Amino acid sequence: MTLGKMLEETAQQFPRKCAIKFEKRKISYKELNISVNKAAHALIALGLKKGDRVGILSDNCPEYIISYFAILKFGGIAVPINSFLTGNEVKYIVNDCQVKVLVTSKKFLRTIQPVLAQMSSILNIIVINDVEQNEHLSFEKLLESDKAENIQAEIAEQDLAVFIYTSGTTGHPKGAMLSHYNLLMNVVDAVQVFKVVPKDKFLLFLPMFHSFTFTVCVLLPLKVGSTIVLIGSVKSLDSIKKAIIFDRVTLFVGVPAVYNVLANKPLPKILRYINAIRAFVSGSAPLPAPVIDKIEQKFNSVLCEGYGLSEASPVVSVNPVYGTRKVGSVGPALPSVQVKIVDENLKDLPIGEVGELAVKGPNVMQGYFNLPEETRKTIVDDWLLTGDIAKLDEEGYIYIVDRKKDMLLVRGVNVYPREIEDVLYTHPNIVECAVIGVPDETKGEVPKAFIVVREGETLSEQDVRDFCKEHLAAYKLPKYIEFRTSLPKNATQKIMKRDLR
Ligand code: AMP
Repeated sequence: MTLGKMLEETAQQFPRKCAIKFEKRKISYKELNISVNKAAHALIALGLKKGDRVGILSDNCPEYIISYFAILKFGGIAVPINSFLTGNEVKYIVNDCQVKVLVTSKKFLRTIQPVLAQMSSILNIIVINDVEQNEHLSFEKLLESDKAENIQAEIAEQDLAVFIYTSGTTGHPKGAMLSHYNLLMNVVDAVQVFKVVPKDKFLLFLPMFHSFTFTVCVLLPLKVGSTIVLIGSVKSLDSIKKAIIFDRVTLFVGVPAVYNVLANKPLPKILRYINAIRAFVSGSAPLPAPVIDKIEQKFNSVLCEGYGLSEASPVVSVNPVYGTRKVGSVGPALPSVQVKIVDENLKDLPIGEVGELAVKGPNVMQGYFNLPEETRKTIVDDWLLTGDIAKLDEEGYIYIVDRKKDMLLVRGVNVYPREIEDVLYTHPNIVECAVIGVPDETKGEVPKAFIVVREGETLSEQDVRDFCKEHLAAYKLPKYIEFRTSLPKNATQKIMKRDLR
């Protein structure tokens, strides 16, 4: 099985069913598969061969999904590029993996224009929604081809399908190489855990270049024959509310920053009764417990927190929709994934002890592109070292304590910013916070808290100190407190501690 075959099978089973609903457009599975085939034939006609890299740099739109599958169908490797990057950052990725064709839109052409001449591997640029048809190829023109039959390419499931560029701890982003098998196995596992059925409707508004979004909101529905309700750009909560009310979405996939807004904004009470959402899913960053409670009450549904990383295709664990959900935990590992906790010498630690989380399974990447040394350091004896500090309980539920790189040492003692943040989040007047370590002459490092206060409320430094004292040991208390109106976030709405530092 390959991802291309997966789509063909679903299209054969549910030809008339709506695969993607986008604004006023409804694309059936049959239409989707035909568009993918046409685009794949066009890419082959451009001279692309198996193993060639094709970049996608675009906002969310159906053409994103069509391009992605078209690349996979002829045996190419899709390289989704973070659409928030600068021209120079895009250039780094394009040059690193020698992207031959770039699928993009006019908006992003402007971003890359100044560095275009320095991306010599690019042979063609395909522009989505390009009515004027400038000097580049038009995506819509490619779809006019009358070659629409399924592609007969020799692709094995172990072949590479996607490179996901992930920032890692230092330096340049690295390309995590995922095979068809890696992604398919992650999809099969997740389908089982979420009990996805054809009548499900997935709400897709997170950026598609992120592995969490693509695997959960695109590959999962397309495997089963469900519908993707696609929102191009979210300018306000209105488009999300409309999708809940009018499109009757059943699975809502979000990230903590989105849930934080939904939990804290007044919403019409009716949403509690009329929505069809059977589960909310959260991943990519820690989700504060009070936010889970508020969302579950507001919508009369369940919110399941999961955990993953690009290098694991990306899902590693998730709290089950129908089963025991443990607040504060990211759930047990997926059915075909194994996890363990190791110390600095990679020795296994017993249940309950805190150490680095290691992951083994069919979803673990093939390595970082062109970086054998980094790969050897990250995958040891088939175990992927995640760089996340965690512990396990008797039932195998995982508790993420923090990221290894965010941990600070106060007088040589480990302090996990996440523990302090969890306490701050329980304060009713705090909407958002982040704790980092700052250098200190006597203690080595001390915690500093950045806090966003709820609109219309007040909070003093002393209030925060008094509150923390009730819940935390003295050495964990933030020495510095800074109030901000907002915190810096990346494209997937993760708080950028690097910028705060
Ligand atoms: P990425 O590869 O960009 O998807 O980032 C993966 C990283 O996000 C992981 O290594 C974790 O540090 C973090 N992460 C993902 N999900 C969670 C979660 N539920 N709780 C805490 N951290 C998370």
